[in-house]
Amino acid sequence: MSELHTLGLAAIAEGLAARRFSSLELGEALRARARAHADLNAFLPLDEAAETEAFHAAARASDARRAAGQALGPLDGVPLAHKDVFVTTDFPTTAASRMLVGAQGPYRSPFDATVVAQLKAAGAVSLGKLNCDEFAMGGANEHSAFGAAKNPWDATRIPGGSSGGSAVAVAARLLPAATGTDTGGSVRQPAALCGVTGLKPTYGRCSRHGMIAFASSLDQAGVLARSAADCALLIDAMAGFDPLDATSAEFAGAEPNRPGLIGAQLAARRAAATDPARPLAGLRIGLPREFFGEGLADTVRAAVQQGLEQLRALGATLVDVSLPRTELAIPVYYIIAPAEASSNLSRYDGVRYGHRAEGAKDLLELYRKSRSEGFGAEVKRRIMIGTYVLSHGYYDAYYLQAQKLRRMIADDFQAAFQACDLIAGPVTPTVARPLGAGSDPVAEYLADIFTLPASLAGLPGMSVPTGFGEGGLPVGLQLIGNVWQEATLLHAAEAFQQASDFHLRTPEGY
Ligand code: GLN
Repeated sequence: MSELHTLGLAAIAEGLAARRFSSLELGEALRARARAHADLNAFLPLDEAAETEAFHAAARASDARRAAGQALGPLDGVPLAHKDVFVTTDFPTTAASRMLVGAQGPYRSPFDATVVAQLKAAGAVSLGKLNCDEFAMGGANEHSAFGAAKNPWDATRIPGGSSGGSAVAVAARLLPAATGTDTGGSVRQPAALCGVTGLKPTYGRCSRHGMIAFASSLDQAGVLARSAADCALLIDAMAGFDPLDATSAEFAGAEPNRPGLIGAQLAARRAAATDPARPLAGLRIGLPREFFGEGLADTVRAAVQQGLEQLRALGATLVDVSLPRTELAIPVYYIIAPAEASSNLSRYDGVRYGHRAEGAKDLLELYRKSRSEGFGAEVKRRIMIGTYVLSHGYYDAYYLQAQKLRRMIADDFQAAFQACDLIAGPVTPTVARPLGAGSDPVAEYLADIFTLPASLAGLPGMSVPTGFGEGGLPVGLQLIGNVWQEATLLHAAEAFQQASDFHLRTPEGY
């Protein structure tokens, strides 16, 4: 039983069905493992008693359903954990910010985020909350009020962010899978730097209800797991229209947006690929020349190129395309995202919930002191930038221009998709950098160059392990699909993983 942590979702389902282990035993084994590797700082230590109680109740309920021969959900008894940006009734929620830790302790939500509720309804059992950058703002997990999570491939390196804890937990085999959120790359980038598989779906595919808002026009729920097949199972349970989120889509293309749709479309793709040696025959993969220019580390370029060769060997055709406004994605994103953040974060005022400063003489001072004490430096920087670009006199020069360019970036993708079905490239310009080297915010923003374009265009994207670069650190291959094409993405990634074993490698000691 000591090897339970090595199992992916299919093996877990099989083991549970064959009664080789219970959900309770599996979850306990993973919890013990997480405690043994607490130095990675993947889980947030918010309320251990609540975690134990909620986990025991959910795992026992799943085991009882199974024993009684009741109907089971597609993820029944599967242990996972949520990025601490999803609100949960079973556990506290902080968004890794001091702002959500009040005198009575960390914030407790009266409701579950819709994706959390959907995963529960599918039978999944949550083990707790995962570390991330404060309010999901960052790309290294160093902006967490609880300290950075550490990359298990080299504990002196960043895991990436903002969903750093999720990537670390999956990479170190503390969990088979975890939720994350992706506003400008926060699922794909940590997945790449930690050598796991990550999927950010189309904007509108999953509900944002109960996902603590950062930049509402960009925020999407996503998943990190050991394989594309596991990502497919999870996203299939999380997806669907939600009347509680005004931007969740009623239709995903021609079909109603609902749980089960991606799984059905993926099954159809698998069935249609009749030549097992060339499962990607007929698939055109576009390589944007702007994704392979200067600034891409040689070892990352080599690993990505090797991945592209693999896709070609599986039957795909590689074609050159152009996304001419790639460079502009950085200034555009770093205007729009802070603008929306400055508005979303105005609700944290020290009055209704979270941190409240002591000794304020009047209401204005209460706001000022609570927010000064509660928010970290990066969050404050974004609130200031966002307030500036939205202010009278600058709105037209910055915010309005950024919105226009955002549309042009989306149009560039549509032009590229005339010539291809998927787009491929790197996820990050380099492998994971050392912890503590991130004092320059602009350098951190520049590293988002390859993930921001798809976010601005609302497109689904994946990171798939494609080898190792400098220092033996993992490299991710990014695949970007057109809207609602998650099944195309997942099918290509799955075929890639059937022909490679990068996603199965574990860091030494794990
Ligand atoms: N690194 C980007 C940022 O700092 C993306 C974050 C995210 O996707 N949540 O905003």
